[in-house]
Amino acid sequence: MKALVYHGPGQKAWEEIPDPTIQAPTDVVVQVDTTTICGSDLHILKGDVPAVKPGRVLGHEAVGTITQIGDAVTTLAVGDRVIVSCIKSCGKCSFCKTGIYSHCLGDEGASGMGWIFGHLIDGTQAEYVRVPYAENSVYKVPAGVPDDHAIMLSDILPTGFEIGVLYGQVKPGDVVAVVGTGPVGLAAIMTAGLQGAARIIAIDLDANRREQAHKFGATHDVDPRAADWKQQVLALTDGLGVDVAIEAVGVPATFGTCVDIVRPGGNIANVGVHGAPVELPIQNLWIHNINISMGLVNTNTLSMLLNLVAEKKLPVDLMATHYFTLDQMMEAYDTFARAAETKALKVILTRS
Ligand SMILES: [Zn+2]
Ligand SMILES: [Zn+2]
Repeated sequence: MKALVYHGPGQKAWEEIPDPTIQAPTDVVVQVDTTTICGSDLHILKGDVPAVKPGRVLGHEAVGTITQIGDAVTTLAVGDRVIVSCIKSCGKCSFCKTGIYSHCLGDEGASGMGWIFGHLIDGTQAEYVRVPYAENSVYKVPAGVPDDHAIMLSDILPTGFEIGVLYGQVKPGDVVAVVGTGPVGLAAIMTAGLQGAARIIAIDLDANRREQAHKFGATHDVDPRAADWKQQVLALTDGLGVDVAIEAVGVPATFGTCVDIVRPGGNIANVGVHGAPVELPIQNLWIHNINISMGLVNTNTLSMLLNLVAEKKLPVDLMATHYFTLDQMMEAYDTFARAAETKALKVILTRS
């Protein structure tokens, strides 16, 4: 089969490698019908994630069709159309039993690490992918949900909702600011309303993304380069700051933006993947009773979000901006890497 193989920082190739096979009785093999590229794939290619070794197939999002099943798999069948979660779940360990799939103790990839696809085992940017612990790690796609909607459930929708909205404890009537409106920031904007957010402020340097954010549910937007940007945000609250500031970039400056606008007693939910330490002004935060949360997605809300997508309650149809075939993988990476120029949100790759 063909797959996108990482060959060390800055190097990748769409090349021929052996087809995956069943290795454990709880595995399935999925023919990848649709996949996409995530910001974390770009981090890996920069060399920011040293656990990813040369030779690894990248990608952790897919919708596909089961082509082989292991002997222990009873709830799935060849031909089932499924969403592959970006997080493995053995379904048996103490973390899985409490919904913390992100730290699943199953020994595929590494015990204690839920994110294994395109990280510790071969991923989904390929014609086929082996999925361990399949009964707990894939989700059947309801009829009527197209691949380019279902693919948003693999990672970005659960990430924005769980790590942004739920960890940030958004509650009815809240003013929520989302700093960074790439796909995951937009997923947080799209799902903040589920918890009753009254105002949702999109903060991003890119004018196109600020404008797009309104289509996903933002009620206001602020350009963080404006001299009075902070006053603009505070004016959208009672003057004391936002209830919840969601960081969806992963650099020190945007975490600082959240610190600047959160109200006393408020929450900062960090969703961004950081590659460097952030200075924490704890001397100011403690006395303002600020909660800070962060984490790797569990995807334990995937089924609930899928129900909403199936009923067209979330505007996931706006997320896919560019379409390619799997063979155009290199071109798709180029388009996604130049998102400011190409206005790409999610690039969709489908089997031709
Ligand atoms: Zn991702
Ligand atoms: Zn587990």
